[in-house]
Amino acid sequence: MAACKPEEYGFDVTFIWEDEKSEVSETTEEDSVQNAKEINRDDITCAICLLVLREPVQAVKCGHRFCEKCIGEFHLQNPGKCPKDWQEIQVFPDVGKKREILSLKIRCPNFVDGCTWQNELREKEVHLKTCGFVTVPCELDCGEFVLRKNV
Ligand SMILES: [Zn+2]
Ligand SMILES: [Zn+2]
Ligand SMILES: [Zn+2]
Repeated sequence: MAACKPEEYGFDVTFIWEDEKSEVSETTEEDSVQNAKEINRDDITCAICLLVLREPVQAVKCGHRFCEKCIGEFHLQNPGKCPKDWQEIQVFPDVGKKREILSLKIRCPNFVDGCTWQNELREKEVHLKTCGFVTVPCELDCGEFVLRKNV
C-alpha cells in the first residue's frame, strides 16, 4: 500500500499523548475524550491500512472497523468478506466513532520541525494550509526546500 497516496486511506497522525516530550494539557473531568490516554489505539485503527480510521465503517457481526475506502477496495477483490476473520460481513458507517476520532487532539505533522500547534484532528487540514512549518520550494527556484514561515 505504500505506493498509494496515503492521504486517501487512514490518518497518519501523532496524538498529543503519544509524544512523551510534549506537555499534555490538563485533562478535565467532564471531557472524557480529552483524556486520551484512555483511548485504545486498536479501537481507532483501521484493520487494513493500520492507520487511524478515516470515514470509519464497522462490520456488523465481528465488530472490526475499517476506513470506508479500505474496505471498499478490499471488497472489490473479496466481496462481503472481513479481512481479519473471513466472515461474511455487512458494514455500516460508524458515525459515533468518526466523531470521536475527529475530536482527538493531534500534534501538527510538522512538530519535528518545531510547530507547536495542537488541536482536534478535524482541524488538521485547515491548519496545514497555514502552518509555517510546511516545507515549500524556495521562491528563488534554487531547488532548495524551505519552511513556509521563512519564505
Ligand atoms: Zn484504512
Ligand atoms: Zn471481522
Ligand atoms: Zn503546523
